[in-house]
Amino acid sequence: MSDCLFCKIVSREIPGSIVYEDDRVLAFNDINPQAPTHVLLVPKRHLASLNEATADDDRLIGELVRRAAAIAAERGISAGGYRTVFNTNRDAGQTVFHIHLHLIGGRGLAWPPG
Ligand code: 5GP
Ligand code: ZN
Repeated sequence: MSDCLFCKIVSREIPGSIVYEDDRVLAFNDINPQAPTHVLLVPKRHLASLNEATADDDRLIGELVRRAAAIAAERGISAGGYRTVFNTNRDAGQTVFHIHLHLIGGRGLAWPPG
């Protein structure tokens, strides 16, 4: 999608601080980090939100989640813990409509979220 911010990061039209890449997945640091680790994991193929995901996307969604765990392990925050979040639509505060998994950690996180 030509007007999608995260598609532009995937295509390198705009820069991203990339931490992982393979054929289907890109992970990059959030521009406004909420914790010492705040990485966004996106599929390279545009998908607006979890609401648009179908059974065909099951493997892709699994890859995002498992890759988040791998990045957490690399950063040594697995045992301490971390949070993985998909915000979906208005009430959850989704602002970029290209599905992304937040990996947030490296400090104690409050629960429940606001
Ligand atoms: P949402 O609120 O949609 O779940 O999360 C969008 C996230 O994208 C926010 O945490 C925001 O800081 C991040 N973000 C917005 N614009 C950019 C950008 O241009 N580059 C990067 N790396 N992150 C961005
Ligand atoms: Zn997109």
